[in-house]
Amino acid sequence: MSHPPIDLAALDLGELEAALEARGVERFHARQLYRWIYKRGVTDIDRMTDLSRTLRETLKSQVIISTPQIVGDDRSVDGTRKLVLELADARRIEAVFIPDTPSMTFCISTQVGCAMACGFCLTGRMGLVRHLTAGEIAGQVRVLAAATGMLDHPFNIVLMGMGEPLHNYDNTMKALRMLHAEHGLAVSPRRVTLSTVGIVPGLERLAREPLMPNLAISLHATTDEQRTALVPPNRKYPLAEILAVCRRFPLKRRSRITFEYVMLAGVNDTPEDARRLAKLLTGIKSKVNLIPLNPAPGIPYERPSDERVDRFAQILADRHLTVSVRKSRGRDIRAACGQLIVEGGTRRSAAQTMALLMK
Ligand code: SF4
Repeated sequence: MSHPPIDLAALDLGELEAALEARGVERFHARQLYRWIYKRGVTDIDRMTDLSRTLRETLKSQVIISTPQIVGDDRSVDGTRKLVLELADARRIEAVFIPDTPSMTFCISTQVGCAMACGFCLTGRMGLVRHLTAGEIAGQVRVLAAATGMLDHPFNIVLMGMGEPLHNYDNTMKALRMLHAEHGLAVSPRRVTLSTVGIVPGLERLAREPLMPNLAISLHATTDEQRTALVPPNRKYPLAEILAVCRRFPLKRRSRITFEYVMLAGVNDTPEDARRLAKLLTGIKSKVNLIPLNPAPGIPYERPSDERVDRFAQILADRHLTVSVRKSRGRDIRAACGQLIVEGGTRRSAAQTMALLMK
């Protein structure tokens, strides 16, 4: 019986073993294939020289290895690189390489667009176009690692690109398992940070995952009224519920939950906000990452002054919170937080087109 071609890039190691076995190929070849695809960045079966010629011919007629294609590669003066990647259906996403942060970091997307509609985020303006598959999420890391010469070096991954990872839970977690596989890139979950607006059922599932990434909560506000205006999912999952899950979230020794706080001038940057924030985080092993807004046309907020950011940070530090102020990277190439939006996609949704017109 003939099988349709299978996409090796979409399979975790166990699935790949099973798929090979179903085609009469020995399971151990899955590990070899994983090494080629993930560790060496090779997707051309003819170059997989430790496979017999016969096996290569068999595979060539039965499998594909779909890989996002680089169609844009912008380099910032600070070394940040923003790749525009085209998927098999011609949708486009962005993935960012941020060097020296202090280690090397890949910021990847989990969806085309995003349904969360955060008020300060260009991606949110696109609406959700579709979820990424696990293969497309992991594929961004393969492409970034190969393009930046990092295949043999340790790197961090942050799920902070386009999309809300917990809104695409199963594919995101499967991608992390694929990236963790020891015959592939063997990325430790300690090197991965999942950033979420706080989808409570997703957080509860995450708390039970055997392979648990670091957790970052995009908080951005200290009252429900303020947060619902900035992060609309707060209407369904208010602050108290999110923080309650955080309080009981199983953390390894020495690890903490990061709370991200985009600072918007005159909106959420007052000393009262800082004091309320410190109070909200009482009892949670946390650190706070302040992100002064990267302003963009179409986003109705301004960046606060450095003095205002410093004062806010000082109030938190005085209350014994660990606080950092994120240095903006890649602003000249629109690779900074909340600035990821695909330009020039061949099939745009109405929301994408609108967002592009507003740029
Ligand atoms: S900030 Fe994140 S969750 Fe909010 S709209 Fe943008 S991509 Fe989505």
